[in-house]
Amino acid sequence: MFSHSALNLREFDKMPEACPVCGFRFEIELGFYWGAMYMSYGLSVIIVVLVGLGLYHLANDPPTWVYLTTVASIVVVFTPFLFRYARVMMLYFFGSVSFDPKYKV
Ligand SMILES: [Zn+2]
Repeated sequence: MFSHSALNLREFDKMPEACPVCGFRFEIELGFYWGAMYMSYGLSVIIVVLVGLGLYHLANDPPTWVYLTTVASIVVVFTPFLFRYARVMMLYFFGSVSFDPKYKV
């Protein structure tokens, strides 16, 4: 679904116009992926809560700056993955697209 690796920080967001395997056009309608921002936000919140709970229990409730720097750096590091998963979820939930193992590359 994406043209480059998620680790390619300059082009992780690039998508081909259509799927090279089945020809499906990814931009279902203009601005379709705007909704992915909300998905991405939701995923970020899940990470923030999980990392916060993890720090609270595993690091014995460290000072606030530890929470802030840890959560912020983890969310920043995961940004390319959140971006991509949000788009995939958007397609799956609102684009009436589902995974067909027949086309698995
Ligand atoms: Zn395809």
